[in-house]
Amino acid sequence: MTVLTNARVVLPDGVRHGELRIEAGRIAAPSPVTEDVLDLAGRYVIPGFVDIHVHGGAGASYQSGRGEEARRAAEFHLAAGTTTTIASLVTGSPGELADAVAGLADLAADGVLAGIHLEGPYLARERCGAHNPTLLRPPDAAEFRRLVALGRGHLRMITLAPELPGALDLVREAADAGVIAAVGHTEAPGATARAAFDAGARVATHLFNAMRPLHHREGGPIAAALNDPRVIVELIADGVHVESGVVRLAFEAAGAGRVALITDAMAAAGMGDGDYRLGGMEVQVRDGRATLAGGSSIAGSTITMADAFRRAVTEVGLPIEQAAEAAALTPARALGIDSRVGSLEPGKDADLLVLDDDLAVARVMKGGRWR
Ligand SMILES: [Zn+2]
Repeated sequence: MTVLTNARVVLPDGVRHGELRIEAGRIAAPSPVTEDVLDLAGRYVIPGFVDIHVHGGAGASYQSGRGEEARRAAEFHLAAGTTTTIASLVTGSPGELADAVAGLADLAADGVLAGIHLEGPYLARERCGAHNPTLLRPPDAAEFRRLVALGRGHLRMITLAPELPGALDLVREAADAGVIAAVGHTEAPGATARAAFDAGARVATHLFNAMRPLHHREGGPIAAALNDPRVIVELIADGVHVESGVVRLAFEAAGAGRVALITDAMAAAGMGDGDYRLGGMEVQVRDGRATLAGGSSIAGSTITMADAFRRAVTEVGLPIEQAAEAAALTPARALGIDSRVGSLEPGKDADLLVLDDDLAVARVMKGGRWR
């Protein structure tokens, strides 16, 4: 039993001053038994972050599927407060994706990852962003089934462009296989995006980025996602991908219960400026901004969830409980694991963060153990 006392405990419905008890790796109900007391002197305690879209960090990328490299990326983000992480794969050849999914499934089975996200390869050429355009292909149900089998239950999400031939069938197939279909890297008009949500898609991948923009006579996938109460929208709140005023608009439209903050971080996160690779594409990082070499396409971010959370409070101006919801509970709901993680409620895993006075992550606890 660990008791954190004199804490400002950030709960979904507000901040409660008092204690938080941890027993056998889980948040415990209040009780008079007391041992191992840690006085937090009024610091905030928030749930550990849940990142449903991240490609790597600390110089390591999930794309290779190699265990040691993937562990390094996951460890880096864990130290920054991400206690639940999905590993995202950019578009690759059939062989590369098969190897990566098979390799990462081992780490998911070990509990290092909460699952795998295929970002592609069934994406729109005109919205490919940093994905290799020569490897994009139309939805291929046979390839998808092979990847589901290689993932051994750990393939959790696939981003696809719903306007491609066969995409809506793949959305239905994904839903049946327990894989969350996400609409992204798309040029679809609103009607096609709505058809994808009706077919079972439940997430919009990095809303605003790599998709047909919002137009007042054709709202496209952005209006379709924001207007659909079944859909959770991802936002890269790094101050580069989406400006704070637009982040604020998305929160006003959908509420913190439908906005998931993500990093979309690539290997350069935590490494500083330099030259990197993302799925075979060369990426330059200058002043923390990652772009394709020789181009202007933004190529993922270099932030951690701690940065995204802090910016949501300090730059966007969200109340801390809403920022915590968007960084933990909402993404956990997107994955269907919110009965286990995402908030500091009795019975859930003791995945939590202690913040210092400027909202930086000071300590990380996962499963009741300090990291
Ligand atoms: Zn991505």
